[in-house]
Amino acid sequence: MDPGSNSLMWFRKGLRIHDNPALEYAAKDSKHVYPVFVIDPRYMEPDPTAFSPGSARAGLNRIRFLLESLTDLDKSLKNLGSRLLVLKGEPSEIVIHCLKEWNINKLCFEFDTEPYYQALDDKIKNGGTPPLSYQSFIKVAGQPSWSSSCLSTSLSCLPPPGNLGSCTISEVPSLNDLGYEESEEQDERTPIRGGESEALRRLSESIADKDWVANFEKPKGDPSAFLKPATTVLSPYLKFGCLSPRYFYQCIQEVQKNVKRHTSPPVSLLGQLLWRDFFYTVAFGTPNFDKMRGNRICKQIPWDSNDELLAAWRDARTGFPWIDAIMVQLRKWGWMHHLARHCVACFLTRGDLYVHWEKGRDVFERLLVDSDWAINNGNWLWLSCSSFFYQYNRIYSPISFGKKYDPNGNYIRHFLPVLKDMPKEYIYEPWCAPLSIQTKAKCIIGKDYPKPVVSHDSASKECRRRLAEAYELNKKQNGTVSEEDLKKLR
Ligand code: FAD
Repeated sequence: MDPGSNSLMWFRKGLRIHDNPALEYAAKDSKHVYPVFVIDPRYMEPDPTAFSPGSARAGLNRIRFLLESLTDLDKSLKNLGSRLLVLKGEPSEIVIHCLKEWNINKLCFEFDTEPYYQALDDKIKNGGTPPLSYQSFIKVAGQPSWSSSCLSTSLSCLPPPGNLGSCTISEVPSLNDLGYEESEEQDERTPIRGGESEALRRLSESIADKDWVANFEKPKGDPSAFLKPATTVLSPYLKFGCLSPRYFYQCIQEVQKNVKRHTSPPVSLLGQLLWRDFFYTVAFGTPNFDKMRGNRICKQIPWDSNDELLAAWRDARTGFPWIDAIMVQLRKWGWMHHLARHCVACFLTRGDLYVHWEKGRDVFERLLVDSDWAINNGNWLWLSCSSFFYQYNRIYSPISFGKKYDPNGNYIRHFLPVLKDMPKEYIYEPWCAPLSIQTKAKCIIGKDYPKPVVSHDSASKECRRRLAEAYELNKKQNGTVSEEDLKKLR
């Protein structure tokens, strides 16, 4: 490569400096490196009531996390003698314009398996000819084994961007600039702050406790632990690429090498990272992975379309405190423990409400800070017994499951303060409390907090019956169930 050449480093999800092969390659033998992030309008939906189907549009917490991550990235780039160039618009148009305007010889970016990014890559690939950095990135990042592949060199400086020509560059915008407003609901701000610096801090805190890493065993953790969550809470950082999964993987391996005994995949911490890759691999190779229809690995189930029940679930009004508290944590924090996600996903679909998993997926997609196309869809397929897992008789009780971990109901009291004075005997089933107790707890069921939207016993029984019927139909018809056949089961 001509040492006088210009590189464009297109940051999309790899919002970090450490272990970033694309950035390393961009810097190599270049006179100017233009580090670019394009604010994509497709991603923005400030209206808090909008849950458009299949939409990847992000809620407030995820946008805040993104902006914090961009600010942190800009700071790190400035420390290397460069800066982040923020542009706004349809990303492929913007990038193509910049390539011409800045006379770019080398375009570098992180390969992404999501359909949206695949389509975007095709557009900028200029009729199918991959840019030079593409192949090179695949070669570096696509190593089959993370255990031995070398991390990218950490950069001590970066060639500065050259002349910016007619491209409109801005600083990292604020939430308000993007049309988002802090709502009143946000009285408790998510404790999850964006950025590579925070990611590395959290990672070193997690791996410093060697016994904890060595004995990590999912699903044994406590889903109700919120002051000190039972898992790493690194998912948002992996989602935005503030943390390199390869670096994370090697840090865990390092701990494992130095202890006598440790847990193994699939339950170990290393095993969790492999789940991530498992879902990426299946999602990449499965057309219509994010849909029931046309998805060859998904059971065809005649889910109900019940907007009232869906809204009660989404807005934490099911009347089951364990379920509602988790949904409040989702809205406030944009993160919940894995088993908490299990409980609410099971409740919405095959456990109680029999609502389509795609509807729940949309709500998670908007509200999770770590919302990840492959992982989110994969886990909804799993939890709804549509794919991967088929034991539909095993249902999470919205009453007794949480009680096992948190008999006093501290998690519920925190996220649903309306129930904070309910005696522990009734905290998971407040509708059973005598009126005198409800009055004393200043929480009348049906007035201050809703009555349960269904009776769990009969609803879960009915769900099992309907799933048995649907499974039978799928078996008979070998997966090719028509819309007509599904209608007959509704
Ligand atoms: P840890 O237990 O500390 O695990 C470390 C990392 O391993 C995680 O950050 C994550 O990258 C990966 N990992 C852990 N569990 C899984 C899993 N089951 N599948 C794939 N990767 C995993 N995770 C997301 O990152 N994004 C999502 O959109 C998402 N949607 C989900 C939807 C449902 C219905 C369910 C049941 C789970 C979903 N998960 C999702 C998986 C899992 O709940 C989270 O990854 C995990 O709770 C994140 O917390 P952590 O970083 O503390 O996890």
